[in-house]
Amino acid sequence: MIVGQKKPLEEIREMLKGARKILVFGCGTCVSVCMAGGEREVAILAQLLQMSYKKEGKDIQVDEATIQRQCDREYFEPVKEVIPRYDAVLSTACGVGVQFTAALFPEKAVYPALNTQFMGSNEGNGTWIERCRGCGECVLHLTGGICPVTICAKGLVNGPCGGTDDGKCEVSREKDCAWTLIYRRLDALGRLDDMRRILPPKSYQVQTHPRKMIHEAFVEEEAK
Ligand code: SF4
Ligand code: SF4
Repeated sequence: MIVGQKKPLEEIREMLKGARKILVFGCGTCVSVCMAGGEREVAILAQLLQMSYKKEGKDIQVDEATIQRQCDREYFEPVKEVIPRYDAVLSTACGVGVQFTAALFPEKAVYPALNTQFMGSNEGNGTWIERCRGCGECVLHLTGGICPVTICAKGLVNGPCGGTDDGKCEVSREKDCAWTLIYRRLDALGRLDDMRRILPPKSYQVQTHPRKMIHEAFVEEEAK
């Protein structure tokens, strides 16, 4: 899932300056799970904004709406007629959702309410950890299911750097060295031979941004 974190209210207020009708617009998927931008968070943020404007005697309308996903056109049907009624849309989706909303409503000012952080997993108790950087050339089959691109501070894919010490990373002693973790996992799996494989340099051609992917079932349709 994509993990996001709320921006400070002052920063949000600054970007909304001049808007008289604001729609706080939530996303019900990833950011809802990480308690940053779902229906509940949208209600809280809308209330905080309303209170802060009221305190200053400002007559600004703040409404709310949430759709299931802001990264998928089909979910926008219920807000198709709603969004154009506002001066500003404050999206609590990840950066993908904010951009997609802005692309669908090019006449509308769409602002991000979150700082999008990373793709990660829930470790329990409101904790999320980054697990994948979307490098486009997955090597998890060779590394015991531990991502060196993400977990190693330098993203090294062919074994540890010279700074690894007593199983800890030289960049931060708080962090286990990714390659120690990989070694231990491969050892437990009886696959230490995989440590000897040297991967070729990464092809940055597959990382030309923004990347695009067409599912094979739709390739012909796209070519038409
Ligand atoms: S190697 Fe790591 S960053 Fe690359 S796709 Fe696999 S998990 Fe993601
Ligand atoms: S000590 Fe280990 S995790 Fe840290 S940068 Fe070097 S190889 Fe990567």
